[in-house]
Amino acid sequence: MKTGNTGKPGKLYVVATPIGNLSDISNRALETLASVKLIAAEDTRHSKTLLQHYGIKTAMMSLHEHNEASRIDQIIRKLQAGDSVALISDAGTPLISDPGSRLVMAVHKAGMVPVPVPGPSAISTMLSVAGQSVDRFCFEGFLPSKSSARRKQLESLSAESRTLVFYESSHRISDSLQDMNNIFGSSRCCTVGRELTKRYESLYRGTLAEVLLKMEQDNNSTRGEFVVVIAGAEKSPDEEIEKGRSIMDILLTELSVSQAANLAARISGARKKVLYEYGLGKKGK
Ligand code: SAM
Repeated sequence: MKTGNTGKPGKLYVVATPIGNLSDISNRALETLASVKLIAAEDTRHSKTLLQHYGIKTAMMSLHEHNEASRIDQIIRKLQAGDSVALISDAGTPLISDPGSRLVMAVHKAGMVPVPVPGPSAISTMLSVAGQSVDRFCFEGFLPSKSSARRKQLESLSAESRTLVFYESSHRISDSLQDMNNIFGSSRCCTVGRELTKRYESLYRGTLAEVLLKMEQDNNSTRGEFVVVIAGAEKSPDEEIEKGRSIMDILLTELSVSQAANLAARISGARKKVLYEYGLGKKGK
């Protein structure tokens, strides 16, 4: 039964769809897509394949980068009239390097609350198998296409200690990896995921130099869609000591040298003995 005309506003459902394997979709996503009045899809022709596969006949309208602004009013009016709408993109989670941000913001602004229907995204899919630290990571999306802008962006990230995640296309994967190798250094750990969940799914893992070599030896390695995961920069002992000293400067106003050094070492990663000696010096002992 299609939702609508209940006297209450409808809901905007933000629905994740597969990133390759059509079976990677939740029951709730399928139920939502079948029950809403309208599906706003990034490319209606592309999403038709998914909907036909599951026998879903809901009407679709396009919502992409170039018409999102003009679709917003139409969708908000539909929601206010009591009809529910689902937002989907060509693959994965809408808004993640995909259209939809302006619509979701407009829905909030209109006093309504969008509903997530979660599922796959290439970021989480890749991080689950990359073999890299995932405690803290930075999602950088696509790098700029112009090489000077790309290198500038990579240089600004070279000291970032969190794991870095990039999306990349077949046209630029080689150039981007080469730039990463030059800027981050050839020994930085890297995992490249290609065509995840699809027939030619591949993972290349090693130092940047090793990954470049492995990919060079595989003729198909630059075909398809890519996620690149790069280990964060290792913090140098000097940086840790500097951080530890700044923490000591604050803690010494309240605590003994020993207590301050203990806490500052735990927070900064610097050695306790080094910070203790620094504390004694500061207190003039
Ligand atoms: N919304 C999507 C998501 O949640 O991941 C991302 C859309 S973005 C326009 C498309 C990019 O995501 C591709 O160029 C590629 O970098 C990455 N991607 C999407 N599907 C992928 C897959 N199956 N394997 C590897 N990368 C993928």
